[in-house]
Amino acid sequence: MGVAGLAMSKVVPLRILVVSTAVSPIGVGRGGGVEITLASLVAGLQEQGHSLTVLAPAGSRFNLCPLLTVEGELQIPCQTRDRGAPVTQPGNSVLAAMWHEAWDRQAHFDVVLNLGYDWLPLWCSRCFNTPLLHLVSMASLSDAMDAAIREVADRWPGRLAFHSHSQMQSFGLRHSRVVGNGFAIDRYRFRAQPEPLLGWVGRIAPEKGLEDAAAVAAQLQIPLAVWGFEDDPDYKAQVVAAHPHCDFRWQGFVATEVLQQQLGRCRVLLMTPRWQEAFGNGVVEAMACGVPVAAYRRGGPGETIDHGVTGVLVEPDDVPALARMVPQAMALDRQRVRERCRERFGLQAFAARLEDWLRSALAAADVPSSPATARVTPTLRPQP
Ligand code: UDP
Repeated sequence: MGVAGLAMSKVVPLRILVVSTAVSPIGVGRGGGVEITLASLVAGLQEQGHSLTVLAPAGSRFNLCPLLTVEGELQIPCQTRDRGAPVTQPGNSVLAAMWHEAWDRQAHFDVVLNLGYDWLPLWCSRCFNTPLLHLVSMASLSDAMDAAIREVADRWPGRLAFHSHSQMQSFGLRHSRVVGNGFAIDRYRFRAQPEPLLGWVGRIAPEKGLEDAAAVAAQLQIPLAVWGFEDDPDYKAQVVAAHPHCDFRWQGFVATEVLQQQLGRCRVLLMTPRWQEAFGNGVVEAMACGVPVAAYRRGGPGETIDHGVTGVLVEPDDVPALARMVPQAMALDRQRVRERCRERFGLQAFAARLEDWLRSALAAADVPSSPATARVTPTLRPQP
């Protein structure tokens, strides 16, 4: 059966190779939201009958499907570099090793799905025989990445997807696919009676704006529980020093299962990013626990929060407005927050959006033969 046949038939399962981020092994925390996207994507598509394999840096822990790992030096996260920075890779690059491996194995798959925010896999679009699709995990951050993403959008428009409309628009694109994200809602513990606690979830790094949440918590005199990977310890020290009246309750970086049990303790989650959050998993994970969210109307949270139903939105960087709106968020119906979250971001809804994307991209694929039987062309192999 050709790829178009595969794409059109609802009954033919797809063999999907998912290539994870090269900035961290899976399960360490540095990969941020990509890790939950990976788990939801695999679980959701497996439930639809597809066969998934994940390729990731050595040291990864992942037990939902077969895992291939490769050694090498990790990639420097794009968000820590200047917009005009050139594309770089360490000498013994795990990114190059992962794409070398994906290249070698592509003939065993119907589609290769890239989750990493890197230039190399985007460039590889031109030389893979098996259709290579990209789920872009962050908004525009780098001139080189913008150009690479726009090139894919021009040449293979169906092969790109984004988590939110504002993320897509940050690249100057208007008509690409938006798939949101997905969460196993039943794994998130609902608590009808929360503690007198505000919450904050994210990597502890400047772009996440923890200082604004600290200011709100201090003003309202409610303790602030903080869950997240300490990406930047100097930044954390600065925030603590600048907000001596904030009662921080540091929770550290906890496993997803622990976060799923704990987040429901909060009356409200504060989401105060400085940057354009592509999606903002923490927002939806809180809602999955029935916790309303008070956030800036910027990036993904501006689209995922239904103002007045699952949370409240205020103008970006307006700390006094956020503090004023927190009581309104506290009054929202927690059961309704969770149910609305399930409708929009449950695993089934996410898998349906993903499957629709994969099948349309495969139907449109301009490859000469079925990717499952395509020959690997060694001369086109990207060099590590
Ligand atoms: N997270 C976690 N344990 C923690 C804190 C956060 O597993 O203690 C996860 C959280 O579930 C979320 C991710 O880290 O999925 C952060 O993703 P988000 O989209 O909020 O931000 P990113 O780090 O990708 O910028």
